[in-house]
Amino acid sequence: MVIKDRLLDESDITMKYVCNTCGHIAMIDRHGRLHCPICGDKADIHPVEMSYAFKLLIDELKSLVVVPRIKLESLV
Ligand SMILES: [Zn+2]
Repeated sequence: MVIKDRLLDESDITMKYVCNTCGHIAMIDRHGRLHCPICGDKADIHPVEMSYAFKLLIDELKSLVVVPRIKLESLV
């Protein structure tokens, strides 16, 4: 709990939406709706708390054409 408190709760915690179907981070479109760029309307999107540094790591890996997928533990 100390590690979670120091590295997440008291640091750069952010709420992102993850598609459980494909594992990508969902986007909010211009109409304010959650949208998965891979699944489209078939997306199963859930809110996930994560470190913003982790989100930046995922973005940098995507720029190198390495696409990490997030599996939601409580839904597996
Ligand atoms: Zn998806």
